[in-house]
Order: sequence, then structure tokens, then C-alpha cells
Amino acid sequence: MINFIRPAIIYLIILIILFGFLQKLRSTETPENPGVIMLLYHSLVKDEEVDEKKFKLGYEGAPYLYQRKTSQFKADMEYIKNSGKYEVISLYDLEAMRMGEKELSKNAVIIAFDDGSISQYKFAFPILKEFGFKATFFIVSNKPEKKSDGHMSWDNLREMANYTDSYGEYIFSIESHSHTHLPITEDVGSDFFRDRIYKELSEPARLIEKEIGKQPRFFSIPGVGGYKKEETIEMAKELGYWGIRSRLGEVISINKDLDMYSLSSFAVLNKTKTPVPLERWFYPSVLDKTKVLVSNFLKGSKKMTSIINFIQKNIVPYINII
Ligand SMILES: [Zn+2]
Repeated sequence: MINFIRPAIIYLIILIILFGFLQKLRSTETPENPGVIMLLYHSLVKDEEVDEKKFKLGYEGAPYLYQRKTSQFKADMEYIKNSGKYEVISLYDLEAMRMGEKELSKNAVIIAFDDGSISQYKFAFPILKEFGFKATFFIVSNKPEKKSDGHMSWDNLREMANYTDSYGEYIFSIESHSHTHLPITEDVGSDFFRDRIYKELSEPARLIEKEIGKQPRFFSIPGVGGYKKEETIEMAKELGYWGIRSRLGEVISINKDLDMYSLSSFAVLNKTKTPVPLERWFYPSVLDKTKVLVSNFLKGSKKMTSIINFIQKNIVPYINII
């Protein structure tokens, strides 16, 4: 038995060094075309109101997982501004770029929020105004009426939509994140499914136009997956939507193949590094890329993904210290 211990330890050490090396190894070459990363926030929380213990458990359960402290959010914005490496654009700019009407000279960031939490109005809105950054708010359209449950009211949303920056430009847009936030699964019977999806797409379009005076052009899919892609896209187009955010973790590249109905975003969660690790997301290390490749390959096999996550969370940080 004892004979196995030494080779096992040596093997483990080699593995650790290898992972550390792969983690550091990243491509530094600038892509031919600059890319766009959509940062997706949910709710913000005042630093002094954070229960650190629970906050740190964020990985295990919502809602902490989706919270970002106001100081973290501010640090993210400061980093974007001070690094000088990124332009902040809107989804409307992205559409204009796809059409060849606008061009990007450097990598860009889209700042977006899901769910319509009141904390976005209270904490993000003043910070975004201060920085003059454009932002997109994907709201759940049956929520603004229910003023008591922590969501923005139509008055809050109107105030943001009507705000203009020092150039007189509207920089905040109110878009759709469904009507009820119902995560619809694909095994729902097809007629029911079609009616339900139609309502989830059409109600926000109707209500936002009525209350805000501007038709929403972008839709963010609630939950992960669930909506039958082709049917959703078909209906979204009929209803006047120009794009759908439906995926996670990929840089959007602007070329004629850009599919506006399958936009990707990066969720900025409580445990996401501060400031938000844009450099790493734009130029992932070999290990990051391998992780994506392996998890795509093993889609459905949660076990493997959690092993990789475990290695990255528990082993890789120690290698970086060494
Ligand atoms: Zn949501």
C-alpha cells in the first residue's frame, strides 16, 4: 500500500504544476476584430448590509449568488473607465455595428441587468450616471405593478429611460426579460407552449411601449435554456425584437455571421473577481479554454464540470500563490 503513496504524490505535484502553467498561459495577441462582452448583473447590495457569511455561501444558493456589492460594482465601472481598453456600448450600437453603420476601435462592453430589482435603480443608476455609461435593463413586465416586492416601478423605469447624458443622448434602455419569469421547459405540450411563450414575449413588448413609450427591441431569456429556440426566435421576430440574449460565457464578435438572436453574456456574480476580470474573459488561459471545451463536450455530465470547477476553485488559486 505504502508503495503507491510516493508516486501518487509526485503525480499530484506534476498535475498541480501543469494546471498552474496552463492557467498562466494565455494568448496575448489582439484579435483581428475587437470583440464585445455583455456583462450581466442582477441585484446590487449595500456593503454595510451584507451578511458576509451568507454572502460567501453565494455559490450554493440564490439570492446571494446573484448579488454584487455596490463597492464591487463601482470597482468594475472604475476599472472599465480607467483601463482605457474598453468602450461601453449599447445593444443598439451592437445592432448598428452588425449593419456596418458603426465600427469598434477596441474591445467593448455592454452593461446589462436582468430581473428589474429596485437595487438597480437605487444603486446602479446613480453610479452609471456618474460614469456616463450606457446600460440595458431587462425587466419582468408583471413586476413593476407590484411595488412592494423589491422591483422597480414604472416611475423608476421611466425616469431611467428618460435620462439623457451631457450630450443629450438617452443612455438607458428598458428591455424585456419575459412577463412572469417562468422558466419554461421543453417538454411542455406544444400548443400550451406556443401560447405561453407568445405571452411571455408579447406582454412585455406591449406594456413597456405603453408605460415607457419605447418599444423594447431585445429579450433576455429567463433561467438557463428551456425555451425552444427556433419557435422563440420566430415569434420574437414577429413581435419586432431585434435580438435575444440566450447564452453564457462567450465573447460576441462583430462580423456578418453575428447572430443577434443568440447573444451571449457573462454573469457577474458575488464571487466573480473584483474588478470584473475582463482581460481574462477576452483572452482566456489555456485552462479556461480547456474547461469550456470539456464542459461543452460533456454537456449533461454535471459531475465532470463540478470536478473541473473544484480543481479551478480549490487547487489553482494555491498554485498561483506559489
Ligand atoms: Zn432572471
